Order: sequence, then structure tokens, then C-alpha cells
Amino acid sequence: MSVFSADHEQVVFCHDAASGLRAIIAIYSTALGPALGGTRFFPYEREEDALADVLNLAKGMAYKNALAGLDLGGGKAVIWGDPLTHKTEALLRAYGRFVQSLGGRYITACDVGTYVEDMDVVARECHFVTGRSPEHGGAGDSSILTAWGVFQGMRASAEHLWGTPSLRGLRIGVAGVGKVGRHLVEHLRDDGASIVVADISEQAIEQVRVLHPGVEVADDTDALIQSDLDIYAPCALGGALDDYTVPLLRAKAVCGGANNQLAHAGIEKVLQDRSILYAPDYVVNSGGVIQVADEIEGFSFERAKAKATKIFDTTRRIFALATEEGVPPAVAADRLAERRMAEVGRLRTILLR
Ligand code: NAD
Repeated sequence: MSVFSADHEQVVFCHDAASGLRAIIAIYSTALGPALGGTRFFPYEREEDALADVLNLAKGMAYKNALAGLDLGGGKAVIWGDPLTHKTEALLRAYGRFVQSLGGRYITACDVGTYVEDMDVVARECHFVTGRSPEHGGAGDSSILTAWGVFQGMRASAEHLWGTPSLRGLRIGVAGVGKVGRHLVEHLRDDGASIVVADISEQAIEQVRVLHPGVEVADDTDALIQSDLDIYAPCALGGALDDYTVPLLRAKAVCGGANNQLAHAGIEKVLQDRSILYAPDYVVNSGGVIQVADEIEGFSFERAKAKATKIFDTTRRIFALATEEGVPPAVAADRLAERRMAEVGRLRTILLR
């Protein structure tokens, strides 16, 4: 993939041979403010894979942050290596110095392979870090507001389809009951839905069974998607909606926490052709980034929760625009994000002294 054909503002390669740090920081856009996005620590097979991933993820963050209503642009970083064997204090601190060198154009946070305690180490060299531990004023576990936001997106989906945002009496399937899925089950139960779950981890299933004895358990994700559901919530890994699963789906709506649910471009159209309402993943799962972004002002859970509650209104606006313009909701979401980046980003051309 060519860096210059990808529309990013800035891509920085960071190398510190002594600590073994090999990182790439990609800033897609700072039209709305500093570019916020996590650091993925992953053993990519090739340098090109790391580059393609970071470019793709940085763009996704710009769209997510724009629709989350944040005054933040989008960026992302990858550290190329195995977090289990390569992660050291020196490497993380070297990384922190590179983030610092960007002067606040990029703000980092956790992602796959990095944790709140890692961000505390990065922060010893750098001011531009969120997703820190509560002992350091951090927001802690971001899955709490991620699940809250998914619940709001689901309420908006129910309202669009059945005229009321209540989930009472609906049958909802949750695939993946890890951190996000488990919190989501709680909200669904409190709202009176009947719930069926699937997970490849016996332990994850057991945890849900203990907390919520009324929840039904499907044999596996395949069985779940083929069962009689009103709403399907993918909350495990990416690519849940593909050429195999979408034709089998019996739900009328899909709304879940997993990132990158659409396996490839065009799946959003297949969903639309099957009259399945799709609540765009990066919109409904933005509660997590809203939670960590709040740290920048000094974390307030109540303020962050109030912002995440607005995911209900944003999802509604997307469905309305999709209907108005005759496009799938995924396309409508991209258009709304691009509109905000252009309209609000343009204001920076008004000179201030
Ligand atoms: P997690 O690792 O805690 O949970 C994932 C769960 O999915 C695990 O219990 C795992 O066993 C299960 N799983 C994996 N493959 C499965 C399969 N094929 N079928 C059924 N279950 C399967 O992760 P999480 O933090 O809950 O995140 C879940 C998803 O939400 C991810 O896609 C993540 O990128 C996305 N997300 C998370 C956050 C957050 O704040 N944690 C924010 C935004 C998006």
C-alpha cells in the first residue's frame, strides 16, 4: 500500500534499535482536533501488513471520533512485535518519546495488545496519553460505556423498526460475551429483552450464566444467527457479517460492539437487500472512545455517560439520512462523518490572533 495514495496527513516511522521499538503512527485527519486513537501491539508478518493496518485503523478513528461528537481527529499507531515477548519498559518509554515529539498532534490510548498499565508507562515520557489507570486519573475499563452506547444504538434500531425504543419482549442474540457483551447483556435484561448468547469460551458463558440465570445459551455462533432473533449483536471479533453469515441471518436488525463487522465492501448492500437494518459498528461502539477521550478534560464518568447516551440520537439521524438518500446506513454514517469533518474543520481557516 502506498502512503501517499491513502489520504493521510502524516505517517511517522519510529525506530529505536536498542529497545527493539518499531512503530508506525498514522494521522488521518486533524480537521476536528488532535488525532486520537489507540496503539496496537501486534506481531504482523510483514512491515506492509503493519502499514496497511495502521492506515486503515487511523481513518476509521477519524470517522468514529467525528460521529461521536468529539473535538478530536483520527489517528492510530501500531507497534510491530509480539507484546508477550517484546514489551519492555524501555520500548514503551521510547515509544512515548516519539508520541511526545509530535507535540500533541496525536494522542494515544490502548488497543489490542496494550493495556492501561502500559499507557501509564508511556505517560512517563509523554503528555499525550489517555486510557490510563484510575490511580492516574484514567477512565479505567472502556467496555462499560462501549456497551452502554451499543444499547443506545439498539434502542434507536428498535424505534426505527417497531416504533418504540423499548427492547421489552424482543429476542436478542449476543455473539461474544467478553467485556462488552457481558455488560450489554445486563442492559438488555434490565430493559426486558429475552437474551440468547454464544461464545467460544466456556468460562465467558459460565460468567454470564452465574450473573443472569435466565439467559439462554446457543450451541455456537452459527446456531445463534440461524435462530429466531429480532436483533443480532456481534460482540466478538471483526468480520462477523460476510457472504456466509448474512444470508443465514434471521434477525431484522444488527447492532453490536465488535469493530469492523462488515467483512468487505458491499456487505452493507446485501444487508439492505435482505431488509436487515444495520446500525454502523463504529457509531454504536464509540462509547469506549468517548470514555477515554473524557480523560483529556479530567475524567467524569457521568459526563462521559451523558455523551455516550447521545449515540441514540446519532443512530437515529443516520437511519433518517439513509432513508432520505436511499443508501445503506453504513454509507449514510460515512457521509455524516465527512460532513462534520468538512464543516467544522473549515472553521480553522478563520484566522485567530
Ligand atoms: P473480549 O476479548 O473481552 O471479548 C470477546 C469475546 O468474544 C470473548 O469472550 C471471546 O471468547 C469471544 N469470541 C471470540 N471469537 C468468538 C466467536 N467466533 N464466536 C463467539 N464468541 C467469540 O473483547 P471486548 O473488549 O469485549 O471487545 C469485543 C469487541 O468489541 C471487539 O471486536 C472489540 O474490538 C470491540 N470494541 C471493544 C471496545 C472496548 O471498549 N472494549 C470498544 C470498541 C469496540
